[in-house]
Amino acid sequence: MTAPDASRAPDAGALDVELITVGDELLLGFTVDTNAAHLARTLAGVGGRIVRRASVGDDRAVIADAVREALQRTGAVITTGGLGPTADDLTRDAVADVFGRTLALDAALLADLEARWQRRFNHPLPPSNHRQVMVPEGAEVLPNRHGSAPGLWLEDPQGRWVAMLPGVPREMRGMLADTLLPRLQGRLAATARVVRSRTLRTVGIAESALADRLGAQARTVEGLALAYLPGAEGVDLRVTAPLLPPDEADARLGAAVETLCARVGPYVYGEEDADLAALAVQGCRVRGWTVAVAESCTGGMLGMRLTAVPGASDVVLGGVIAYANAIKVSELGVAPALLETDGAVSEAVARAMAAGVRARCGATVGIGITGIAGPGGGTPDKPVGTVWVAVDVDGQVHAARAVFPGDRHEIRYRAAQAALDRLRRAVDGQAPEPPWVTRS
Ligand code: AMP
Ligand code: MG
Repeated sequence: MTAPDASRAPDAGALDVELITVGDELLLGFTVDTNAAHLARTLAGVGGRIVRRASVGDDRAVIADAVREALQRTGAVITTGGLGPTADDLTRDAVADVFGRTLALDAALLADLEARWQRRFNHPLPPSNHRQVMVPEGAEVLPNRHGSAPGLWLEDPQGRWVAMLPGVPREMRGMLADTLLPRLQGRLAATARVVRSRTLRTVGIAESALADRLGAQARTVEGLALAYLPGAEGVDLRVTAPLLPPDEADARLGAAVETLCARVGPYVYGEEDADLAALAVQGCRVRGWTVAVAESCTGGMLGMRLTAVPGASDVVLGGVIAYANAIKVSELGVAPALLETDGAVSEAVARAMAAGVRARCGATVGIGITGIAGPGGGTPDKPVGTVWVAVDVDGQVHAARAVFPGDRHEIRYRAAQAALDRLRRAVDGQAPEPPWVTRS
């Protein structure tokens, strides 16, 4: 007999839960069920386990059937969706049917919601919102700090329970963290094994080059599975510890992350959902640098990424969307002869754009981006995806060329991300990677 795969072995310590996501939009494919993914990952990280999941439409009898069957099988059910104020929000009615409970208006909830509407909208509560304060007899209200629909918890005398969470992903995630997980803590066995992962974000290096750097640890790092997740922001590296006691999982993940960082070095810029723009802005702030941007093919995307960071006004002065050659000349001082001899997508023009915007805005750093986002306009010399990025720090200019894959949006997004990477590296004083060409 062969040993069972550890990631599939039954785990006596785990809290088994069934998940039912509610909404016609999920069945029709207009909304992707991100709630299911988030709940599965989150529960696995604390010793829970989604053992089965289903999506059902906005139909009271169908929701009730699904919940009843799940309760009989597993005795622990989470639902999302169908708690809103409209007539198609039927989860609370359906679950009350399963438990044989009637709904009653919760006066405290009503007062809360009325006050919230007055405060936020300066308007009395619309009558349809009264549905949201109807609570099944014996249910506990799970407060929602992130929106108007409260969650509900119903439990029968045998200890079988249903937790109802809202459908809006931001509210669902907030309520899960604030209220439901702490409540489940007591039901999660101390012996439970967890599935946890950590994700390192890299930029400026291809998947294959990452694997080469990792050598023998390219598939498994310190014995943990490694996944390569390429996207327009770079390649994310995710290590996963399968079904281990929490302390051991964290320790093994810590060791794996250390190894990855040591091998991948300066290509790593953060963990989980780290934003390269936030990092670059923070770095500039620490050094007292100001930044100005001159964007051709990205049409303002770099400025958007930078100014999306809270507190960007300490750093970002402004910029020019210099799409037409005439604007490159009139607003950035690019010499018409350069455009003539080298073309708009060239090292010389990127450098002149960076220097020009830095001088005109009086910034420490000027960034110039020029490229061919496609789908038309490519030539054998300068194929679609060719982008030049130049960063001018106090007159010291670095420029680099890349040929990015993808469609028009992806090429533009990758170009902005590459420019942010160059800015981050300049801030860190890191030697620019080839093919940077440095000149003052
Ligand atoms: P509801 O609470 O059912 O009224 O859902 C409110 C909104 O949340 C819907 O319009 C969907 O856009 C979104 N939503 C509902 N369920 C999910 C889900 N399972 N995954 C992602 N989004 C969802
Ligand atoms: Mg709905």
